[in-house]
Amino acid sequence: MKLALIAHDHKKDDMVALAAEFLDYLKTCQLMGTGTTGGRLNGELGLDVECLLSGPLGGDLQIGARLAVGEVDAVIFLRDPMTPQPHEPDINALVRACDVHDVPCATNLAGARVMLRAWSAASPNPAAIV
Ligand code: PGA
Repeated sequence: MKLALIAHDHKKDDMVALAAEFLDYLKTCQLMGTGTTGGRLNGELGLDVECLLSGPLGGDLQIGARLAVGEVDAVIFLRDPMTPQPHEPDINALVRACDVHDVPCATNLAGARVMLRAWSAASPNPAAIV
């Protein structure tokens, strides 16, 4: 399972808590993330997230580009709906790429938990139910 993890600044604590909750499962995944999000997950939980550029510097677009060529199976993107983001076009492009390519994308904690519960229960072959 190739999983992309992104969290806006006000959602980063939620992402760390979510990852801690599903740590055993996430350790079985190939993880990538935007720079700051990935750095926190690596530093605080000992995960092995490949850190791409920070979101505002193009990290969302990097993930979108990988997704478009089949290199991302799912996205957890904890967006902050209350704060304007300078890279809003990039965010929309990534979510659109998920829709274009029919890649599961959770944009809030509840959705992310549903996805991770299902996949961790289906382990070791969660990609089969995507
Ligand atoms: P970050 O990027 O993880 O580098 O903060 C996330 C974003 O703001 O899109």
